[in-house]
Amino acid sequence: MKKILLFCLLVLFSCDFKNDTLPNVIVILVDDLGYGDLGFTGSNEISTPNIDSLAENGVIFTDGYVSYAVCSPSRAGLITGRYQDTFGYGLNALYTPKDPDMGLPLSEFTIADLFKTKNYKTLAVGKWHLGAHESLRPLNRGFDEFFGFLTGGHQYFPEQWNLADETEVKCNFCAYRTKLLRNEERIDENEYLTDALSRETVSFIDKSSKSPFFIYLAYNAPHGPLQATDKYLKRFPNIKDKRRKTYAAMVSSIDDGVGQIVAILKKHEIYDNTIIYFLSDNGGASSNASNNAPLKSHKGTLYEGGIRIPFVMQWPNEIKSGTIFKKPIISLDIFATSKAIINPDLKLKNEIHGQNLLPYIKGNDGGYPHEHLYWRNNGHQPYIENGVRARYITHAVRYKNYKMFIRRGDSMLFDLSSDIGEKNNIIDKNRPLFNELVKKSVEWNKTLMDPIFLGLRDDELYNKLNPDRYIY
Ligand code: CA
Repeated sequence: MKKILLFCLLVLFSCDFKNDTLPNVIVILVDDLGYGDLGFTGSNEISTPNIDSLAENGVIFTDGYVSYAVCSPSRAGLITGRYQDTFGYGLNALYTPKDPDMGLPLSEFTIADLFKTKNYKTLAVGKWHLGAHESLRPLNRGFDEFFGFLTGGHQYFPEQWNLADETEVKCNFCAYRTKLLRNEERIDENEYLTDALSRETVSFIDKSSKSPFFIYLAYNAPHGPLQATDKYLKRFPNIKDKRRKTYAAMVSSIDDGVGQIVAILKKHEIYDNTIIYFLSDNGGASSNASNNAPLKSHKGTLYEGGIRIPFVMQWPNEIKSGTIFKKPIISLDIFATSKAIINPDLKLKNEIHGQNLLPYIKGNDGGYPHEHLYWRNNGHQPYIENGVRARYITHAVRYKNYKMFIRRGDSMLFDLSSDIGEKNNIIDKNRPLFNELVKKSVEWNKTLMDPIFLGLRDDELYNKLNPDRYIY
């Protein structure tokens, strides 16, 4: 009897020990990826064995969303775990290194701040796009280290990075040509951008394998400009369209990076206790040769093609491989899930809007993580009406398998379980549900702020209001 008791205690101890070892967490966020452009989402054109292996060894969220349909606000949501309009982050930020109000407000606590409460080593790699002012950069937002660039995009070939720093930037998109940053220092770099970002991630894991770490790896691929090296281009001899071929090569370069990350985790025997998320910041763009099938529309809209994205999570120690989760979830859940795992008792000053996904993934809770998911698109292209500058604002709510969508005078209700392509507006069959969801949307909108800064499409106006923008 005593022996059995001792055995039980040992088992308990070992279980506790496992749970007391905080997992490493890696968020791999890609940019403008088409929904149908990965092996596990049905592509027969682009092979992505390494990304597919994350999906096979963990959970696929079939109904995974981001909180906005373009880059910068979507990232603001992910990194705070909060609907970004709650704090006025409603537009795609401009590149304005002299402006402390263009980016993620300092009132916000980031997911990297969360990991620092448990002494994680933290790294941001790649595209930042949450503010270029020195006070808004990664090292001031919870990250120990940064390697990448501050803008909404970047040229991919090192020979194009011919601006020494921000003082040489004279237009918004010119910033795509600045030298990369390592922490606060501009550096010379020789590798194709995606390869350099993968290399830095692997090297950080290599030196940090003994302590828990958090990595926010934000590849800018396959965001435009479409640029790839021969190494990846030659993998697609059957794609004749040059743009599509280049896009495919860019996705393939990400897949190689994912493979290298998995390999270094295995080498250090920390693979089983590392959580890896993989998702895109918004849907495929109309401009980057992506394939969003079977979803309707693309980046920038609240149709599924703008906000529903490939989304997987892997944690071999805790999540059964081959799990498929079909209820709606959102990128904001990454923050809430991380908090529940590493520091559940922490009191946050700001309300978070995500849910801890683990009980749902493991089947301990059979309900819906979210009764409703909400979106407001603040309209990126401004227009003039009666002499006043205005934007087309659209609204959407997801409730179970239904989606309410109001866009430019059109009222729509879709049953996504039978109509993922949003072809059949069933509002006339279920007007009470539509009205109820509109009511929910109106209530939710009361919790939001109008955008607190001008966006990418307001470049000219911003320059007029800030004539010294490019003067140092
Ligand atoms: Ca994007």
